[in-house]
Amino acid sequence: MALIVQKFGGTSVGDIGRIKNVARKVKAEVDAGHQVAVVVSAMSGVTNTLVDYTQQIGPDVDPREYDVVVSTGEQVTTGLLSMALQDLGIDARSWQGWQIPVRTDDVHAKARIQSIDVTEMKAQMESGQVAVVPGFQGVSDEGRVATLGRGGSDTSAVALAAALRADRCDIYTDVDGVYTTDPRIVSKARKLDKITYEEMFELASLGAKVLQTRSVEMAMKHGVRLQVRSSFEDTPGTMVVNEDEIVEKEIVSGIAYSRDEAKVTVVALEDRPGVASAVFGPLAEANVNVDMIIQNISQDGKHANLTFTVPEGELRRALEVLEDRKDDLRFEKLLSDSKVVKISIIGVGMRSHAGVAQRMFQALADKSINIQVISTSEIKVSVLIDEEYTELALRALHTAYDLDADAA
Ligand code: ADP
Ligand code: ASP
Ligand code: MG
Repeated sequence: MALIVQKFGGTSVGDIGRIKNVARKVKAEVDAGHQVAVVVSAMSGVTNTLVDYTQQIGPDVDPREYDVVVSTGEQVTTGLLSMALQDLGIDARSWQGWQIPVRTDDVHAKARIQSIDVTEMKAQMESGQVAVVPGFQGVSDEGRVATLGRGGSDTSAVALAAALRADRCDIYTDVDGVYTTDPRIVSKARKLDKITYEEMFELASLGAKVLQTRSVEMAMKHGVRLQVRSSFEDTPGTMVVNEDEIVEKEIVSGIAYSRDEAKVTVVALEDRPGVASAVFGPLAEANVNVDMIIQNISQDGKHANLTFTVPEGELRRALEVLEDRKDDLRFEKLLSDSKVVKISIIGVGMRSHAGVAQRMFQALADKSINIQVISTSEIKVSVLIDEEYTELALRALHTAYDLDADAA
């Protein structure tokens, strides 16, 4: 007998028929003799609608009330799934985040889970009851409802699996595993049987939304056995594992993209010590997350152009902060562009191979795609390009690193 956490995403619980399908998947584990906790997302589209309602009230709503609203989608699905399970003769009950409780910090709309008290839930699971838990929500130190950031149900599931010391955490979604790149964009994307925690972490943080980044971080930290699999087909999914569990290491395992990027160029900034700190200090204070950075010396040797990227939603704030300091910073003007995409290649094999980045640059050059900014780390290379070339670049890189399904 094992203890299993199953998580079902928005599409998987998208209508009543699908919720009944989920109930059958849960029943199969119960019939096999396992103890089961189920984590559910809101029905697909519901969280977007709720977010939209809050935006119609105004741009600067109270984040605590925002969380009260957007957390409700998950409450609905826990109730519906519990009913569907009861209908199949399974003993099941819903637990809201505050009832368990799932304790979080008070950073509303992107709260972090601090602890989950599973004592009562575990006792009831031991007596054969299925626990149905809402993803995405918890309760803050101040006793207010808090949500974990978009895609946060993955993190709820992994945190619950860690707290319950589950044998497995299965993430059921609308694709049958983790692919070499988004299979909805590159038809030749190949399903991976295994991927390392580290690569999955990079893929997620660089844009692949199949798992929320924090869920991978938490699985790595607590050694949770994580599997991504399909809600609709009964096929094996992708296991997220330690590096030593993978014998054949690919140089590049996956390619991610993120359209949530904007580029800012500070034109003709004085080229003197302290200037980078004078630009990035105030941005950090204003909670703007700067990612890629490049500096070009201009012709006269006295001025430099400084280019960097920020998340699209933080562009306006970044520009305001710099405009406010124009007199001190003494630059000529600011340019910005949000029609850009960041494309990243990821692989632990990069540590031991040379020329990996060069192959990326060549593949893009062959398609006449201009690279605007580059950044690298031990196991990834990212480039910023014109958004218009997203699909072309993904396909070209997928082929260049021999990842195409028909090449395997
Ligand atoms: P859920 O609602 O189940 O949480 P998400 O929409 O959050 O599902 O995540 C699944 C989606 O992630 C897939 O439909 C797919 O388009 C996208 N995706 C992006 N990159 C990848 C990848 N490398 N492998 C698999 N899916 C990916
Ligand atoms: N329902 C939330 C969202 O859409 C959480 C999740 O689905 O993971 O972001
Ligand atoms: Mg998701």
